[in-house]
Amino acid sequence: MDKYIYDSHMGGYYTSDEPIDFEWLYCEQCGDSDWLIGQASNRAGAKELLWTDEYDNEDYEDSYIKEFIEEEWDE
Ligand SMILES: [Zn+2]
Repeated sequence: MDKYIYDSHMGGYYTSDEPIDFEWLYCEQCGDSDWLIGQASNRAGAKELLWTDEYDNEDYEDSYIKEFIEEEWDE
């Protein structure tokens, strides 16, 4: 099953099995919001999304991304 990958405006990635409404992604404290990166059903798909420079995100360490992917997808 696909997981939706989000980049938190506080830093860090997280996933959700369901798409998250914008009102939950938006942070009233700072006016910033988390954003959807994409959907992935396995590690290969997640890698494709997270190891591109296509997104204007903060940079994360490769080790963090690797760990995140291994925790969230079994294969
Ligand atoms: Zn905030």
